[in-house]
Amino acid sequence: MRHRRKTKILATLGPASSSPERIRALFEAGADVFRINMSHTSHAGLAELRGHVRALEQATGRSAGVLVDLQGPKIRLGTLPGGSRVLKEGERIRLVRRVEGTDDGAIPIPHAEVFAAMKQRHALLIDDGRVRLRLFGVKDDSAEAFVEVGGEIKDRKGINLPDTLLPVPAMTQKDRSDLDAALNLGVDWVALSFVQRPEDVAELKKIVAGRAGVMAKIEKPKALASLPEILELADALMVARGDLGVELPPEDVPGKQKYIVSTARRAGKPVVVATQMLESMVASSTPTRAEVSDVANAIFESADAVMLSAETATGVYAVEAVAVMDRIAAAVEADPLYQRTIDAQRTPPEATTPDAISAAVHEVTRTIHARAIVCWTSSGSTALRAARERPEAPIVVLTPNLQTARRMAIVWGLYCIHTEDAHDLDDVVDRASEFAAREGFAAPGERVVITAGIPLGTPGATNMLRVAFVK
Ligand code: PGA
Ligand code: MN
Repeated sequence: MRHRRKTKILATLGPASSSPERIRALFEAGADVFRINMSHTSHAGLAELRGHVRALEQATGRSAGVLVDLQGPKIRLGTLPGGSRVLKEGERIRLVRRVEGTDDGAIPIPHAEVFAAMKQRHALLIDDGRVRLRLFGVKDDSAEAFVEVGGEIKDRKGINLPDTLLPVPAMTQKDRSDLDAALNLGVDWVALSFVQRPEDVAELKKIVAGRAGVMAKIEKPKALASLPEILELADALMVARGDLGVELPPEDVPGKQKYIVSTARRAGKPVVVATQMLESMVASSTPTRAEVSDVANAIFESADAVMLSAETATGVYAVEAVAVMDRIAAAVEADPLYQRTIDAQRTPPEATTPDAISAAVHEVTRTIHARAIVCWTSSGSTALRAARERPEAPIVVLTPNLQTARRMAIVWGLYCIHTEDAHDLDDVVDRASEFAAREGFAAPGERVVITAGIPLGTPGATNMLRVAFVK
């Protein structure tokens, strides 16, 4: 059974969710898109996880999206003897340029450029800022540091250097090789971490060349400064609050989230709100009230999707976390204030034929209380513009292009169905009515509003609106 929620759920796959059975359980609980984090996944692991998702589609007859998250120029610790180490406040430690830690107790950081760029008195934060070091005595391949805020550190945890200017390229060698592997397998979205400039996105787009959607993760203050230009090039954005809340004071993140979401919404491009949404569920079967409010807030902002990271990748309650998100989304979307909030955020159509048609589709649907909007689309552009309107009625997407069905799985309000190509407009109308009835959106005698681009199969040519009775 398909979930009737409009907000989509992204679930990150990891050790707690790598078997076909667990992935299926996440899908049935409501995950729409599966994220594979290349920071923690090998090429063999990527192929395997992607294979499980594709097999799941076969078994259930429903498409699902696969998003590959490229690590980007993220600085990480090396590996520690025993896998972890507790740093105490006031302790004085040594950092070394090395991949693996040794018994001398020095903390390994395998990045020459970090030692070259760090300066005396700079802060070095580990694991989303949980542990804070203050540097001194920085040399080419070692440094001294005081532990200002202690805690446990583990293998390959992320490092942020908010005071240090790092002259790093958008994609590392590893990213290029991960990207190559992902594109060869075929995935639906590629996300790039630590985007700083529009050129970073342009570089990725050039390599991807339309084979996947390109998502820019906004987690650097530098990216916020040129957000409109980044969005112009990207197909989607992620509010990557984990690193953003380390690079910026955490109290600045909620405002930036609203800015990123509203900017993407105006452009009609999907936007994902990510990180720590139900963090306590990594170890607890129920979320905190504050977490529920946070997820609800992103849904009221009309983000396209909300994301789970450690909750599904390593957590004990992975399936429960998806189920909780599903319930929050369903409750918020049923709240009388939801539609009013969404309507108040409405952005006027752009001065194009597709937008004028999409706005008219929305208006006609509302006026005649049509049960669903049916988009016939090959590239997905008609569906994206329909979703930009944030209509109350569900949007059923019929597409002869399987990749479109998968890619659009991330978009607010879209129910994607892969179907064989239509012969002509009458065929589209017949099929729209048939699918709307079969999927339970409309009963015989009820109306649906159909939109498409004629001639069929011309991307971005949305120019047709038709009202049809379901037979
Ligand atoms: P990450 O990205 O989980 O890859 O770090 C998300 C974030 O930073 O919020
Ligand atoms: Mn991040």
